[in-house]
Amino acid sequence: MSGKQIPGQLSRISPGEVFSFLCHDRVSCFTHCCRELELVLTPYDVLRLRLATGLSSSELHEGYIIEELTPEDTFPRFYLTMVDDGKASCVFVNDAGCSIYLHRPGACRTYPLGRGTTRDESGVHEQFILLQEPHCQGFQETTVQTAQRFMKSQELETFNRFNDRLTAITQHRKIKDGLELTNEHISLYRLALYDLDNFRAQLADKRIEPPLDIPEVVYEDDEKLLEFGLQFIERLFFDL
Ligand code: SF4
Ligand code: SF4
Repeated sequence: MSGKQIPGQLSRISPGEVFSFLCHDRVSCFTHCCRELELVLTPYDVLRLRLATGLSSSELHEGYIIEELTPEDTFPRFYLTMVDDGKASCVFVNDAGCSIYLHRPGACRTYPLGRGTTRDESGVHEQFILLQEPHCQGFQETTVQTAQRFMKSQELETFNRFNDRLTAITQHRKIKDGLELTNEHISLYRLALYDLDNFRAQLADKRIEPPLDIPEVVYEDDEKLLEFGLQFIERLFFDL
């Protein structure tokens, strides 16, 4: 593997650059990467966790999600709960692997890659880094991957689409220029993006009335509701 070296075990790689990697349930490190981690959840991850567990967004926040807003941060962060089993295991890992595999979060799918984006007039541009941790035996396998191929195999398209919409908010020029958000703004950000059941209920009984037409489909389709939530927050914060 080539690639520009950046600190630690990280290398920057181009989308078509090859590396050897395969994860499967016979590797000696199986599920090691599901322990002792800080797993940040995106709005689309929470949407998928609702599908995986059958829980409402309130129930997920109560039992499975830790929320943090530090004085340095503009936006709250949401982390998946780890279990106090001496190994800080993910709440969804067991001996057979990930119990919510079909709906696992985007960061779990992307590992051992990391994906960043920049945007300009011509659109969104992806950059990738490869994280080679000593415990990860997947790099001893002979299967040849590229970042592009690996991302496709992990069915990340919808995750990335929603995450790019979120980044357009959190990395917006006005935010970088120091736009001050009120507590109400932050509450609505949390509601519209991370608490879809309550967002839907509050739209239905007009406790919140966004300055946008509300498509009927948001009452039945979670992805449409999240798209509407992103549009609502963009309008509220940036008047887009
Ligand atoms: S959600 Fe699944 S893949 Fe992700 S850390 Fe937990 S057990 Fe591992
Ligand atoms: S540490 Fe690497 S090879 Fe082992 S289970 Fe995790 S991703 Fe797969």
